[in-house]
Amino acid sequence: MENKEEFRDSIATADDRGKRLWVFPKKPSGRFYEYRKYVSYVLLILLFAAPFVKINGNQFMMFNILERRFNIFGFPFWPQDFHIFVIMMVIGVVFIILFTVAFGRIFCGWFCPQTIFMEMVFRRIEYWIEGDRGKQMRLEKQKWDAEKIRKRSLKWFLFFVISFLIANVFLAYLIGSDRLIQYVTDGPLNHLSTFISLLIFTAVFYFVFAWFREQVCVIACPYGRLQGVLLDNKSIVVAYDHKRGEKEKGRAKFKKNESRVETGKGDCIDCFQCVQVCPTGIDIRNGTQLECINCTACIDACDSMMEAVDLPKGLIRYASEENIEKKAKFKFTPRLKGYSIVLGILTAVLVGMLFIRSEVEARILRLPGQLYERKADNIVSNVFTYKLVNKTTADFEDIEFRLLSHKGEIKPVKTSNITVPGQELTEGTLFIEIHTAVLEDEKEKLKIGVYSGGRLIETTSTMFMGPRSFN
Ligand code: SF4
Ligand code: SF4
Repeated sequence: MENKEEFRDSIATADDRGKRLWVFPKKPSGRFYEYRKYVSYVLLILLFAAPFVKINGNQFMMFNILERRFNIFGFPFWPQDFHIFVIMMVIGVVFIILFTVAFGRIFCGWFCPQTIFMEMVFRRIEYWIEGDRGKQMRLEKQKWDAEKIRKRSLKWFLFFVISFLIANVFLAYLIGSDRLIQYVTDGPLNHLSTFISLLIFTAVFYFVFAWFREQVCVIACPYGRLQGVLLDNKSIVVAYDHKRGEKEKGRAKFKKNESRVETGKGDCIDCFQCVQVCPTGIDIRNGTQLECINCTACIDACDSMMEAVDLPKGLIRYASEENIEKKAKFKFTPRLKGYSIVLGILTAVLVGMLFIRSEVEARILRLPGQLYERKADNIVSNVFTYKLVNKTTADFEDIEFRLLSHKGEIKPVKTSNITVPGQELTEGTLFIEIHTAVLEDEKEKLKIGVYSGGRLIETTSTMFMGPRSFN
């Protein structure tokens, strides 16, 4: 008797001895594939344009890890904004969890850069050069004759060029597009270490898209691993309607003029089109599997077969297990409600933080190891260092510090035109002098306003030390 659970013992992309089984997926075609193509065009344009578009002089997207400078949707973030960055990351994770609980691995099939590049760029080049599944399999077995050498070298060359292009864009996200363009203009030899990094990135992308491919989704991606804990029988995933496909007698080959209702055979005609088209090499009829990236290729393949044999489409479709078993409609479950509330609260916190975020961040700290100095006329003086971070692209000039909480004087060491250029940091030293009559305690919290051209741009606080007794 056939063991229906046998598929659980191995993965579709490795043989009994663990050797890689190359997947030759059939070229998908159909309604969903067309939609996915349009989505991928939009995403590819966004992905390539994001580091080169600027808003108010700020790169739209930048993740400069080395210099710890990040731009998200044109908003610059400094290490001082790390809390906002963390909240954004948490929102991203909760959003993905919420989305996954409700709609399964939809992100992987429609939005993940790995799938977009693999299925919509590299795979389509492969189909263009080597042909569809059958031709690719023949070419693979073929000896290294002129045709194979020509096709393979053209394919590998184009793969390398695209990997190099992706690596450049990746670098533009990391170091900024202005610097990348500058380096290109200067010539690679003048920036050898960056050029070597670029070649390493190219090699990694080439390895992933030319060889590693679906293994990223099957064994490497941490998000893929999470499916087991996030999905439940109410999650909507790409699913095979086993009730309809198997019925009492199970799936069976199509026979002309035979009524499947009368024979009790399932609607699945066992044509294997859904398996042949699958980029991860699985059989969706075995149920939801970790390898499935919800790419919808099997939906399109099965729909076209159903159309050909005059049976209703949707044998493979977006559906939950509960929908297939009990014909239950999508429900907003308590789990989804919980995640939505958390997401709502986090988003509100983020909006609030962005709203109160200042253009300039000021930090004034007492010079370590210094106590205070008692000057003539009962004046107490403390020495401080200040750090001003300009988060905008405009310069702030004529910086002044004013004591807001106490009567006293602030005397910067640099007296004329303190400036903080756009996206830069300015540091310096200043003295604060306060009359002992104003001081109530030996340690007092001072509130200080930072002004540029007479306009208040930031307020900050610091501690001031005085003598224990003021008499
Ligand atoms: S089973 Fe279907 S949806 Fe899942 S990866 Fe394979 S073709 Fe794509
Ligand atoms: S494509 Fe549809 S009919 Fe063909 S084997 Fe798959 S599920 Fe059955």
